[in-house]
Amino acid sequence: MSDALKQGAMQIVRRLCEAGFEAYLVGGCVRDEQLGRPVKDYDIATSAHPDQVQRLFERTVPTGLQHGTVTVVADKKPYEVTTFRREGGYEAFRRPTEVEYIDSLTEDLQRRDFTMNAMAIDQNGRLIDPFDGMKDLERGVLRCVGQAEERFGEDALRMMRCLRFASEYGLMVEQATWDALNSGISLLRHIAMERIRAELERMLGGSDPNRAMSLLSGSGALRHAKQELLLSGLGKETEWPPFSRLTEMEHRLAFIYIRLGADPADVEEDMIKLTFSRQQRETVKRIVAAHTVLVSGLDESAEWDEEPYLRRIWIAVALNYGVSALRTLREIYLLEDVPIRTDNVKSGRAVDVWKRLGSVWLEQMPVSALGELVVGGKELMSHLRAKGGPWTGRLLHRLLEGAALGELPNDKETLLAAAREHYDKMQENDE
Ligand code: ATP
Ligand code: MG
Repeated sequence: MSDALKQGAMQIVRRLCEAGFEAYLVGGCVRDEQLGRPVKDYDIATSAHPDQVQRLFERTVPTGLQHGTVTVVADKKPYEVTTFRREGGYEAFRRPTEVEYIDSLTEDLQRRDFTMNAMAIDQNGRLIDPFDGMKDLERGVLRCVGQAEERFGEDALRMMRCLRFASEYGLMVEQATWDALNSGISLLRHIAMERIRAELERMLGGSDPNRAMSLLSGSGALRHAKQELLLSGLGKETEWPPFSRLTEMEHRLAFIYIRLGADPADVEEDMIKLTFSRQQRETVKRIVAAHTVLVSGLDESAEWDEEPYLRRIWIAVALNYGVSALRTLREIYLLEDVPIRTDNVKSGRAVDVWKRLGSVWLEQMPVSALGELVVGGKELMSHLRAKGGPWTGRLLHRLLEGAALGELPNDKETLLAAAREHYDKMQENDE
C-alpha cells in the first residue's frame, strides 16, 4: 500500500522533471522514510508554478493556491505539490503574510522548521540534506534550521511542534533550540487554541505520553496558552506512572484530569477552551465523573469497606456513566497504587477492591442498559393502568438496577410484579 503511494509520488516527480522543472519529495515523508517509519503522505516540492502544475496533470485540485499548493490526484490518491517558496514577513507570530515563489530547493528547505523536516529526495532516490538532518537524527537530536530564536519568533506554533516531535520521535531537543524555546515560550499566547489542542492531542495520543507530559511541564508551555487551562497545573506533578497502556488519547486525558483532582465541570470547561469535540468531552467527562461519584459516595458511608456495598455503587455508577467508562476507570486505577490525590484511606482501600473485582462485576451484570430490559415504559404504564410521567423513568431505572445487580431476573412476570410493588410504594409516599 505505502509502496504504491510512493510509486505514485515518484511518478509525479519524474513527470515534472521530464517537463523541465525540478521536483523532489520533501518534509515528513523523507524523514519518516529515513527512520523506517510508516509514511502517511508524500509531499512534493517543485520549481513549477501552480498553473504549470495544473496544466501538466490531468486531475488536480487547487487546494492551497495562496501558498502555492496544488493537489495532484494520481491513481485516486492525492499528492500535495507545492512550488518552492520563500516566506515574506510573519504576522502575529503565526504564518507568513506573503509567499514568494523561488527557484532554489535549498532556499525552500531553509524556511522549514527542523533539520529532520528539511530534507528532500530527488527523482533518482538520492537524499538531499543541506542542514544535516540525518546527522541530527542519528544523534537523536531535534534542532531548528537556522537561528532557533528567530524561527520560534516567526511562528510560535513551531514550539508546540518541537515538543510534539521530541516526544513522538524520542529526541533530545538540542541545547540552543531548547534555550530559545524556553525564552520564547510566552509567544504561545498568539496561537489559536485549536492549534494548541491539535498538537496536544497528538502528543498525548502518541507513542510516549509520559515524555510528552514531562516536556510540557518542563517548558511550562500550557501556562502560556491564550486561555488559562487546568492542564497547566501539570508542572506540579512529579512522578507519573507509565500510561501508554491506555490506548485512547481520551482515556489518557481522563487519567491526567483525575490525577490533577479536577471535577467534571472544570474538565468540561477546560476541554471547551481547547476546542475538543463534543464526543471527546463526553468520553473524558464520563470517566472523570464516574470517579468523582464513586469516591465522594464513600465519605458519608459507614459500610464503605464491605464488598457488597462497593459492588452496589460500582454497578450503580456503571449504569449512570456507562460500562465502558468504568472499564477505563479500572484500567486507570490499575496504573498505579494510589491514583487518587487524597489522603483518604477509605478511598484507597475501596479502589483496591474495584481494581480486583470491578471487571468481574461488570462482566457478570445481566443487563446494563434500559434497552436490555424485557419490559419498556409503555408496557409498564398499561400494566399499572397509569399515565406516564417522571415516575416512569425512575421506576424503569429501579428495575434496571435490580436486574443489573442480579436481584431481579430479567423476565416479564418478575419485573412487572416488582414494578407494581414500587409503584404502590411511590403512591403511598406521594400522599
Ligand atoms: P506530520 O505530518 O507527521 O505532522 P510533517 O513533518 O509532515 O509531520 P506537516 O505539518 O505535514 O508535518 O508539514 C510538512 C512539512 O512542512 C514539514 O515537514 C516541514 O518541513 C514544513 N512545516 C510544516 N509546518 C511548519 C512550520 N510551522 N514552520 C516551518 N515549517 C513547517
Ligand atoms: Mg505531513
